[in-house]
Amino acid sequence: MTAGDLSPILWQIHAIAFCFGCVIGSFLNVVVWRIPRGESLLTPPSHCPNCGHLIRAWENIPIISWLCLRGRCSGCHQPISIRYPLGESATGLLFFIIWYTIARRNLPLAVLPGYFYLTGALLSAALIDMKHRMIPDEITISGLVVSLMLALLAPSGRLALHPDGDPSHGSFFITMAFEQLQRLFGADLRAMPIIAAFTDWLFGVFAGVVLLGIFAVAGRHLAKKPQAMGYGDVKLLGMCGGFLGADSVVFIVMAGAVTGLVWGLFRHIILRKKGWSIPYGPFLGLGALAWMVFGNWFFLLFGK
Ligand SMILES: [Zn+2]
Repeated sequence: MTAGDLSPILWQIHAIAFCFGCVIGSFLNVVVWRIPRGESLLTPPSHCPNCGHLIRAWENIPIISWLCLRGRCSGCHQPISIRYPLGESATGLLFFIIWYTIARRNLPLAVLPGYFYLTGALLSAALIDMKHRMIPDEITISGLVVSLMLALLAPSGRLALHPDGDPSHGSFFITMAFEQLQRLFGADLRAMPIIAAFTDWLFGVFAGVVLLGIFAVAGRHLAKKPQAMGYGDVKLLGMCGGFLGADSVVFIVMAGAVTGLVWGLFRHIILRKKGWSIPYGPFLGLGALAWMVFGNWFFLLFGK
């Protein structure tokens, strides 16, 4: 089933994708606040940090509640940070963009869970990285597990394996790998969807970890700043490879480096280095988002 089959109710689904994103964004607000502080995501239930007032169901509706309460706690009337409605609407917007992309490119719907999960994980990782200069394992390692589970449960969600052979699906490296494996073992793994999906997942993770791992290890040994690149970035790229495959990893590293460089120059020349220093993690996230939205037009440039 592809997004094209849903075309009669496309606009309703656009709206649902946005609302779903807002609800997930409400949860991500909790993730971004609690995980760096080592707190549980489940307990205690959401409460006002000032007076401890428990957030009731009607006060927990994304964006709308904040507007109805005029940005103040109904218990103590202290302001509620605007980052709550901002986080909710940003996630809503990103989910809308992801869904719109899937509809526009007429991709299989099995792609959707992985794209949504990765988008949420990258957004929370980026926000935590910008504030705390670290990317928690809770996000990257669980992302690796989720991407593996999705590969095994919904192998048709692996775009690179699609039989139409559209190179914009990022099938360059995995096709090469399958050809080599067939030469070695005499069996065509592409005929076995779950094994093929697992191989695609494994290659993606491997590509991500190795590509950035080399830089991270070299950076630790060569640079005087030991934190030149954290292993959090390595795991983050491994997670991206797990969801999106090996081709994406090359694109994401390059897109991340280019946008990071542009931002660095902008900061150096225009802002004269006053604040707004951003670590590499958010740029990797931006690269992964670009990959999901634009497909790998990058590989098409060299392409078949
Ligand atoms: Zn309060």
